Amino acid sequence: MKKMSLFLLSLFLLPVATLFAGCQGQEEQLSAYQIQLSYDATSHAAQGSVTVEYVNNSSNALQEIMFHLYPNAFSEEGDGLVCSASNESKTYPNGKSFGGIEIFDVQIQAEQAGFELQGEANMLLKVDLPAPLYPDEKTSVAIEFSLTLPNANHRFGYGENTVNFGNFYPIACVYRDGSGFATDPYTSNGDPFFSDCANYTVSITYGSEYKIACSGDSVSTSQNGDQLTTTITAGKVRDFAFVLSDKFQVLSSKADGAVVEYYYYSDTDPQGSLDTAVKAIETYGDLFGSYPYSSFAVVETNFVHGGMEYPRLVMISDQVQGEDYDYVIAHETAHQWWYGVVGNDEFNESWLDESLTEFSTALFFENHPEYNLSYDQIVSGAYSNYNFFLKIYKKIVGEVDTSMLRSLNEFDTEPEYVNNIYTRGIIMLASLRDQIGDRKFFSSLSTYFKEFSFKNATTADIIAVFEKKCGHKMEGIFNSWLNGEVAFVAQ
Ligand SMILES: [Zn+2]
Repeated sequence: MKKMSLFLLSLFLLPVATLFAGCQGQEEQLSAYQIQLSYDATSHAAQGSVTVEYVNNSSNALQEIMFHLYPNAFSEEGDGLVCSASNESKTYPNGKSFGGIEIFDVQIQAEQAGFELQGEANMLLKVDLPAPLYPDEKTSVAIEFSLTLPNANHRFGYGENTVNFGNFYPIACVYRDGSGFATDPYTSNGDPFFSDCANYTVSITYGSEYKIACSGDSVSTSQNGDQLTTTITAGKVRDFAFVLSDKFQVLSSKADGAVVEYYYYSDTDPQGSLDTAVKAIETYGDLFGSYPYSSFAVVETNFVHGGMEYPRLVMISDQVQGEDYDYVIAHETAHQWWYGVVGNDEFNESWLDESLTEFSTALFFENHPEYNLSYDQIVSGAYSNYNFFLKIYKKIVGEVDTSMLRSLNEFDTEPEYVNNIYTRGIIMLASLRDQIGDRKFFSSLSTYFKEFSFKNATTADIIAVFEKKCGHKMEGIFNSWLNGEVAFVAQ
């Protein structure tokens, strides 16, 4: 995600926008999701079902499967989870509005199964298995549900111009040997998500006044009266999202063999925005490894923050203006590499996707001088911003926690999160680049991308790749940045 940090933007002309946004998958055997959803624009509600062919890729016999019910973060019980108090008026311009997901029925292998809602604001679904599911075995879990969308400019909700379906269906929690299912909750900081790559077939019914932007290939659309049904497939993606709007205009182009589509309604330079997305796909492809999917959708939306990434689809807020809009497109597109293809636990190791993505954004501008924003400007701006943050924070709260490796709910405030993960992330990776040189640095990143494509990586994994490429121990260097020990002064 890209959060717009007014704290920084108000001080420096440099458009250091701030932004946001994991998996432990086995490439050989992916789970498969079949989703059917019918959206009613009058009630802002949807009826749906998801059937998951769930593969046990762990080394343990499972007695149950846990699913995230992220829409319940938008329920009355979840009040305060989806945005900070300072963002409430931007999230709910028409006043507070609630939504959520209701579970009606769960079946395992077509037989009624026991289930239970758990966790804060009922954001978890525990499904009991009738018999242990052993490693490498699979089973079919069918869940019937209904959605109520809040009137909210957020990942899940409807605004003035778009209906955003992000994190809208029950999605299996990642299972890790040793610690079990990762059931961390929604938080207003960052992107509190973590999932395995899977194959998706999705069928969506919606009013014919809408155009649909989605995380996959539209394979067919049929019309029944004033209702359209679009069937979409997406292979090896860790999530699925779509956006509806009756105002969308669409421009398209190609990059690295993929169709790049830009859905917009108020952008006065849509061709420029599309060009930025195309250049970003090509630049990151050259630097880290090719974009592996057949399409990429960049979607202007009603969204409280700068932007939000999903596999093959990014949301860009219509509130972002001018040069910042290109910055946010470049940032969200980089997430296709760091979060999308190489996943991670975004709740507990958010630096892995956000710091890498924000630094990759600096690399985009380094490779595109036509935007008049140089790599050096971004890095020196990050130093200035971070030191300013330290100074102000010391004044206001005393000691400042400068660690990066902590969970999202351990950051007390949004500026603390943004400055430590995005801004300090740029400084850390720029320093590392200077220290080991371009050849080893870029070779490490492209190897990391290749080795962990369609899987979930950890901090230990990326350090191990750098150590292999550099031929010496690097744990101390990484950890001193990540644990907050490295001190520095303004350049
Ligand atoms: Zn981000």
